[in-house]
Order: sequence, then structure tokens, then C-alpha cells
Amino acid sequence: MTPFTYSRAVDAADALRQGAVAGASYLGGGTNLVDLMRETIERPGALVDVTGLSSGIEERGDGTLLIGAAARNTAVAEHRAVRERYPMLTRAIVAGASAQIRNMATVGGNILQRTRCTYFYDDDGSRCNKRAPGQGCDVIGGFNRIHAILGASPACVATHPSDMCVALAALGAVAHLRSARGERTLPLTDLHRLPEDHPEIETMLEAGELVTAVELPALPMARRSSYRKVRDRASYAFALVSVAAALELEGGMVKDVRLALGGVAHKPWRAFKAEAALKGRPATEANFRAAADAELAEARPLRDNGFKIELARRTIVAALGELMGAYA
Ligand SMILES: Cc1cc2nc3c(=O)[nH]c(=O)nc-3n(C[C@H](O)[C@H](O)[C@H](O)COP(=O)(O)OP(=O)(O)OC[C@H]3O[C@@H](n4cnc5c(N)ncnc54)[C@H](O)[C@@H]3O)c2cc1C
Ligand code: SF4
Repeated sequence: MTPFTYSRAVDAADALRQGAVAGASYLGGGTNLVDLMRETIERPGALVDVTGLSSGIEERGDGTLLIGAAARNTAVAEHRAVRERYPMLTRAIVAGASAQIRNMATVGGNILQRTRCTYFYDDDGSRCNKRAPGQGCDVIGGFNRIHAILGASPACVATHPSDMCVALAALGAVAHLRSARGERTLPLTDLHRLPEDHPEIETMLEAGELVTAVELPALPMARRSSYRKVRDRASYAFALVSVAAALELEGGMVKDVRLALGGVAHKPWRAFKAEAALKGRPATEANFRAAADAELAEARPLRDNGFKIELARRTIVAALGELMGAYA
């Protein structure tokens, strides 16, 4: 591990001041960043601990829920308002990692955790454009079973690993950001980037910009929502494919629907095409399948991950079918 300094910020202004030092990184629970430092994939010269930022979970008068960036994953999953009003978020968080890691991990860190592409972690022998821009990508032509089927580029086919972010994308969550230039908000679906020619640039954040909170909209339909994760082991494994879904029916017709996919792209993938294909249509399995097909029409499998297309199709249909049960 490369030597570094450690300091603790008391609030966002303090974090921005301390984070302005060249080579500084923010530290949440450290469950991803510290691993990357041990592997010398990341070598920050200064760590600014941001767990002193707000960890509150505030139910606001307009029906929105504001979750501080330092809130631990466990605290979010267990919060009464989250369990009752956004069950897909509780399920997504609990489907991730282990209880110990969720107790440490923060909301800000979860959003900004880095890919689990095994070649990205293999600093000794593999070429990786994300780790060393312009170097090439050994996954293309290598073993690519866990990689992306949507939105990838010849430069990078990595996926975003977060379960929580898939639910946040489906819910229409908004990230609250703060930098030296001031505060702004960004829909979560616009926060992460597709790889294009620059997979090393993973988000739309400016240098040193902080995530200070995540806002969930008042979304009554989210009370009937769920999260399905398909993985190689029943626990402690990242998603091959996951689906966050919410469904609102009226007289057997789909009045509204929210769908997002995990494990398939460089960012949490909101399935806007599937949603558009379903709205106003009868809530039937055939229509769920047609909606999945609409979303997956542009899927481009690699040598080893063609199975993800059918898996995603079936998981979408199953997740919506489960929600139909809530209306029975
Ligand atoms: C064995 C293992 C299994 C796992 N399995 C899963 C899984 O199945 N599903 C899943 O979703 N995740 C899984 N994870 C990942 C885990 O969820 C993340 O490591 C965790 O959410 C990261 O949060 P953290 O607070 O520890 O982030 P840190 O490691 O502290 O930081 C991560 C990144 O976020 C940045 N950062 C942190 N806070 C802020 C902020 N407020 N503003 C700006 N930048 C910030 C840091 O600089 C760093 O770049 C697993 C991790 C491990 C180790
Ligand atoms: S897929 Fe992306 S992260 Fe993985 S080795 Fe290739 S460039 Fe690196």
C-alpha cells in the first residue's frame, strides 16, 4: 500500500476544503476503496473521511425522503419509511454483500463503488483501459461471463456492481451534490456514465465533488415494488442480472411501471423502453415478455455472456409477475 494521510471532515464544507488537496480521495466505510488501495489499483495520497457528513433519513412534508450520504446501508434498509414506502430499496440493499459490510458501507460510497471486473483488479498481468487509459482491455477476447450486454463499448465492457443503485434508478432518485462551485442535483440515472472511449471516467461528478444526500420522490406506487437478484451463490455474490420493479394496475391495465436492471451495463440501467412498451397495456405475461424484448433488442452479448439476455428477460417477467400477485 502506498503511504497516505488520514483526516476526518466534520461536515461537507470541511470535506471540500480538505478534499481540495491534490491526490485526495473521500473515504466512506472503506469497504471498496481500502481494498483497491491494498491492491494498489488506487493510490490516494490523502484520505478524507466523510462519515461525519449527514447520516440522517428525513421524511419531508412534500412526501420525499432525504437520505444523508453517510447513512449506513443497514440503516437505510431497516428504516421504517424505506421498508414501507420503497420495499424494493430494502430488498436491493439486503441482497448485497454481507451484514458486516452493509453495517460499514455508506450511501455515498455504495453509489461510487467501482466495478468488480476481475481484470480491473488484476494489476499484475491484465490490460485494462479503466485502470490504465489507452492500454487496451483483455476482457474482449478473454473470459467475459459477468460482463455487460447493454451500452458497452470496444474500450470497456464492465458492469456497475451496486444493487442499491438499481433500486434508486427505478425509483427516480436524485443525488444531491456539492463542490467548491456550489450545490446541484442530478437524477441518479444521469450520474453514472457509459464507458464510450473513456471508461476511466465513471460518473458526471466534477473533481472533488461530494455526494451529500440522495432524495427519493414521493412515489405511492413504490409501495408495491420488489427486487430480484440472480447470482451464482445465494449470498455474498454480485448480480449476474437483477431487476428492480414497481407496478401500478388499474382495471387489469398497467397504469404505471418502473423497471431498472443491474449486472448488465456500466451503469444502473433504467429500462425506459420496457416501461414505455407496458404503460397502458393489459398486465399479461405476454406483454411483460414483449416489454422485456423491447428493452433487450439492443443487447450485444460477448462470447461468454449470451445467457444474460434470456436471464434478464425471464427476471423481468418474474419480477412483474410477483407484483401481480400483490393485486390478487
Ligand atoms: C466481499 C464484498 C462483497 C460485496 N457484495 C456486494 C453486492 O453483492 N452488491 C453490492 O451492491 N455491493 C457489494 N459490495 C460492495 C459494497 O456495497 C461497497 O463496497 C460499499 O457499498 C461501498 O461503500 P463504502 O462507504 O464502504 O465506500 P468506500 O469504499 O469508502 O468508497 C467507495 C468510493 O466512493 C467514494 N465516496 C465515498 N463517499 C463519498 C461521498 N460522500 N461523496 C463522494 N465520493 C464518495 C470514495 O472516494 C470511493 O471512491 C461488496 C463488497 C465486498 C467487499
Ligand atoms: S472491461 Fe473495463 S474494467 Fe474490465 S478490463 Fe476491460 S477496460 Fe478494464
